[in-house]
Amino acid sequence: MAQVTNKDASVPTADLMDRIVSLCKRRGFIYQSSEIYGGINGFWDYGPLGVELKNNIKMLWWHAMTRLRDDVVGLDATIIMHPRIWKASGHVDTFSDPMVDCKKCKGRFRADQLAETPCPLKPSKTVAECDGEKTEPRPFNLMFKTTVGPIESEENVAYLRPETAQAIFAQFKTVLETARQKVPFGIAQIGKAFRNEVTPRNYTFRSREFEQMELEFFIRPDEAVEAIAGRVLEPDEIDLTDPRPDTTAWGWKAWLKYWVAQRMRWYESLGLPRAKLVEYWQKPDELAHYAKACVDILFKFPFGKRDASGELIGEELEGIAARSDFDLSQHQRFSGRPMTVFDEELKNAWGKLAPDKQSALRSRYRQSRLDYYLKAGEPPEKARALADADAEAFTKGYYIPHVIEPSAGVDRLALALICNAYDEDTAPDEHGNPEPRVVLRFQPRVAPVKVAVFPLLKNRPALVQKAREVYELLRPHMKAFYDDAGAIGRRYRRQDEAGTPYCVTIDFETLGEKAPELRDTVTVRERDSMRQDRVKISELVGYLLEKIR
Ligand code: ATP
Repeated sequence: MAQVTNKDASVPTADLMDRIVSLCKRRGFIYQSSEIYGGINGFWDYGPLGVELKNNIKMLWWHAMTRLRDDVVGLDATIIMHPRIWKASGHVDTFSDPMVDCKKCKGRFRADQLAETPCPLKPSKTVAECDGEKTEPRPFNLMFKTTVGPIESEENVAYLRPETAQAIFAQFKTVLETARQKVPFGIAQIGKAFRNEVTPRNYTFRSREFEQMELEFFIRPDEAVEAIAGRVLEPDEIDLTDPRPDTTAWGWKAWLKYWVAQRMRWYESLGLPRAKLVEYWQKPDELAHYAKACVDILFKFPFGKRDASGELIGEELEGIAARSDFDLSQHQRFSGRPMTVFDEELKNAWGKLAPDKQSALRSRYRQSRLDYYLKAGEPPEKARALADADAEAFTKGYYIPHVIEPSAGVDRLALALICNAYDEDTAPDEHGNPEPRVVLRFQPRVAPVKVAVFPLLKNRPALVQKAREVYELLRPHMKAFYDDAGAIGRRYRRQDEAGTPYCVTIDFETLGEKAPELRDTVTVRERDSMRQDRVKISELVGYLLEKIR
């Protein structure tokens, strides 16, 4: 049967999000948090299918980042940390959106969004045009505050982490000492983050509580690479198809390019098509002051900003930033603990360099440290002394590593996968007549349930018993679901809506009642093509594992 798919524009984009939100609730992907009390803006719960989807995302990220690599180790740090961490990271002073208050309606609005925000009193006008008097913009910090211990005082203030990354920097030395790694290497972490977003919106896209998957990949400063390898490779000189490249001559630009390629490949491996992904290189005026470059991976959700021709631009799934040695340097200054590493190869290479090369590299390294100290607000004389000391240490093999940070959101990816998978087409009902169906075309790897097992009829004990046996056979290997309620067509429809790629039906052939050669075989129905294969029960685990990998 010809399939009418979402890709053929059977679902108007304007409606698409409403249909997706309704499916997510109906099928148990995503619920509003605290719904029985009217909900709480910006917080979402994941139901039985949603939690499986999220777990798959996290597991696949963890595998790609840690299990399949020798050079990345994991960390699971606390959500509440010493408040000085957020002073050092800059979040206490600068992690804020400028806000204005309206004296008439008493609303508080983001200063940069006045022209897009409807006036609560006169919704036909925006806040920029209404006649309410506004205050000057004031910063509104996005961190959630709490107090630690029984006394609610200023000294006991702590914050719920607004990102997982800072814990990695704070534990950098401890991990380095215990994990037997050396630069270049990375530390990966998955966990909750909290931001008191001023305007949570677009469903789960901008939430106040969400999960991040972050990697801090520590690399040598370019001056060290040059001392060791003789020169730093340009990004177009590196071969991204080589599974085990020699990275000795890779500077931060090569590593950034490498990580962008790795991450794009990973998103494609989850079924997001290249055409819906955008690699956006931030312009110099968009960069955070410490970043040398930042590449956002955008996904074309059914919502979001559009270009002049009305095309969706895409919204951020992940940011990959070259953050220099800023974060570790900050923690070194604020904690008083050294964040330097000793690099034996640098020390050995240094001794063999010609004096003019030594002096050129030393002075470049000194300059970059001086720039950092001056930007960080150290008085010039002290900054010069600190930079001199760092440059001297550098010549003996010591430096603060630089970092490339791929930082992704679990919730945004879950939403992207659902939006991408959503489709409507037609499928035959039990009489063979076409009827509309909603189907989530998940890549099997991310699908919450991999296989559903049905006895053809619920009231035949021999069918039910065999179906339970098949279910027990499959469940240790993959997320399986047993269903005997309702007509078989209805059961298929339910699994299509859940995005289950395979349904296994136990029928009278399985019992050998029709043809002896079909005894102990089952029907395996594939979600997208609706093709049915006859498979021996003894071969079923292997057959399915091959397809869901
Ligand atoms: P945005 O510009 O959309 O606010 P950001 O640039 O502040 O995002 P980062 O600080 O780079 O985001 O965080 C890394 C990732 O964490 C983002 O790419 C996104 O996937 C996720 N993330 C950040 N804020 C939120 C949020 N409020 N809700 C859900 N996910 C988020």
